[in-house]
Amino acid sequence: MKLAPPRHLKLVPRHRSRPYLFPRWRCRRFPAGFRHTTGRNCRPPATRSPTNWWPTRINKTNYPVGNRPAPPKGFRNREQHTAYYKSVINCLQDVWCPYLTALDIQQKPVSLVAYDLDVNTPCGSERQSKTAFYCPANATIYLSRNVYEFEAEDGFYAGDTVVHEHFHHIQNQLGITRYARTYLDADEMEVSRRIELQDICSTSRLQLTLNMGVDADIYATFLKYSLGDEQHGTKETIDYWMNRGFYMTTLQGCNTWGVPSKDVA
Ligand SMILES: [Zn+2]
Repeated sequence: MKLAPPRHLKLVPRHRSRPYLFPRWRCRRFPAGFRHTTGRNCRPPATRSPTNWWPTRINKTNYPVGNRPAPPKGFRNREQHTAYYKSVINCLQDVWCPYLTALDIQQKPVSLVAYDLDVNTPCGSERQSKTAFYCPANATIYLSRNVYEFEAEDGFYAGDTVVHEHFHHIQNQLGITRYARTYLDADEMEVSRRIELQDICSTSRLQLTLNMGVDADIYATFLKYSLGDEQHGTKETIDYWMNRGFYMTTLQGCNTWGVPSKDVA
């Protein structure tokens, strides 16, 4: 089914003759110990997309590169944990800003709420959530106490979580979340998995390009302890996209919108 995107979500620039001016980055070298995957599996998916709303030109650009704070080995208290999140969010806003500007999208600020047991949000209420989550309705990342307690021991997960939740903000600003949920001809869980897997793949890559301290051991831990569910995909699917992201240079490499349903199962 082909649907034209609604006017306000159309992401082509107003002046078609004007080129997109995305930042250009050289790729970083891999930290030692990464398993290099080559061949068919890591070729970017075809640019084909179920709709024409995902702007093709941004797919061809590289992920932003920079030097962002690596998480400490662990966190002493909640304040330190929340402060780390804030600092990374600020950096992520900085590195993504030129991409949004190139697409004539005004960057939205993102808020962070650390909560203990219960929280009410425009996306519903959470009780004793074990996760962090992003609510697109108010562009806010929510951070539960459980997440803090988990990451207080294994700090490197904080880098992964904050990049993941912030990438949902990028998807939101690019119009992906809303458009997919409104117009994509697929069941709700498949839409959710395409959103999450694009994010998981991009998060792998961003942790490398932003120099966030992911080494071969951390990389192996991410792959070993990932968990599957209906909303994110099976463990096998998650591992495929997570691993893939480490080797992709352009956003197209993580384009879960151009692959068949079985690849996002
Ligand atoms: Zn997510």
